[in-house]
Amino acid sequence: RYVIGIETSCDDTGAAVVDYHGNIIGEALNSQTRIHVEMGGIIPIIARDLHKQNITNVVDEAIKNAKLSYQDIEAIAVTTEPGLALSLFIGVNHAKMLARKYRKPVIPIHHMEAHALTVRMVERVEFPYLVLLVSGGHCLLALAQDVNKFLLLGRSLDDSPGDAFDKTARQMKLKNLKECAGLSGGAAVELMAKTGNPKSFQFPGVLSQNRDCNFSFSGLKFHAKSLILQEELKQGIDGGNVLPNVGDICASFQDGIVKHLVHRIRRGLLYTELKQLLSEENKTLVVSGGVASNMYIRQEIEKLCQHFNCRLVCPPPKLCTDNGIMIAWNGIEKLKREIDLVQVNDFDEIDLKPRSPLGIDMTED
Ligand code: ATP
Ligand code: FE
Repeated sequence: RYVIGIETSCDDTGAAVVDYHGNIIGEALNSQTRIHVEMGGIIPIIARDLHKQNITNVVDEAIKNAKLSYQDIEAIAVTTEPGLALSLFIGVNHAKMLARKYRKPVIPIHHMEAHALTVRMVERVEFPYLVLLVSGGHCLLALAQDVNKFLLLGRSLDDSPGDAFDKTARQMKLKNLKECAGLSGGAAVELMAKTGNPKSFQFPGVLSQNRDCNFSFSGLKFHAKSLILQEELKQGIDGGNVLPNVGDICASFQDGIVKHLVHRIRRGLLYTELKQLLSEENKTLVVSGGVASNMYIRQEIEKLCQHFNCRLVCPPPKLCTDNGIMIAWNGIEKLKREIDLVQVNDFDEIDLKPRSPLGIDMTED
């Protein structure tokens, strides 16, 4: 039994065929990232046009790579929320078209739910578990109680952690260092941090008085910016030159981010313990998203987990980013439970929701 997943919520056109056991049978991905980077950010109309140009090829290619035909597919899973309205529309429209043509049901998918469930493709992780998603586009802490049952405990009140890493790396001009060539901002900061001392500069605590699990990264980002300008002035650095003590700045900044993440996860663990929402014998925290590939961050979260007798699981990097695979797997999870299958005659029921929190939103309490 196979499901095809289609993802167009942001800047990647992705499709993949996944089977009941979580094997990836065929996949295809067209990333628009390079074009958007050149434009200085995602422009929705351009994203839509690129999705439109590529969708047919990407989806057909996934089927072709799987050595299957559309007849062999049991259902078509597609991201319907949240995301850029214009982009979501292209994927959903294509899914409906295929579903009509081949008389298959459509399974609407929540993009963040898919990120949170991907780990179950590759590891034995049972509900309930805590999940932290940290990337260039997201930051949230949630309790996964079932495939379609989530409690959203925390989310970022401003920027994403990936954005804080990227902007800070740019401010330090890390790209001009040959050891950082080709690395993302976050990966460059992690690499340079290895050469520095995290105690060199004090970064402010974030939201430490807030009695919730929300996140904020704009303060840390701003603090890093002022610190870099100050150091550059002090040391008479200008143009494309890089500060000699970038290692110390990277290490201190990264440590500031990690302290904030750990502090918020700690609150999440205490809350779920108090309300007995996690099983005591089988406590699990899943950490996913591009930022989760940072080994320093993982190591510090691991220390916290040991303290709470909690298992830490991180999916492989390939499954942490946007793709059709996670959408197809989420489709399989729903198919197994026979939930959310929409038949051709009911396609009017399929709603696009550009803004849509994951599950029950507890972040305001
Ligand atoms: P999504 O739409 O799912 O949020 P995205 O493209 O915004 O996807 P990802 O591809 O999951 O995000 O992750 C990219 C982000 O992860 C970038 O901001 C990048 O700087 C950051 N990142 C990558 N490697 C590391 C690392 N080692 N340490 C910290 N941040 C990292
Ligand atoms: Fe995503």
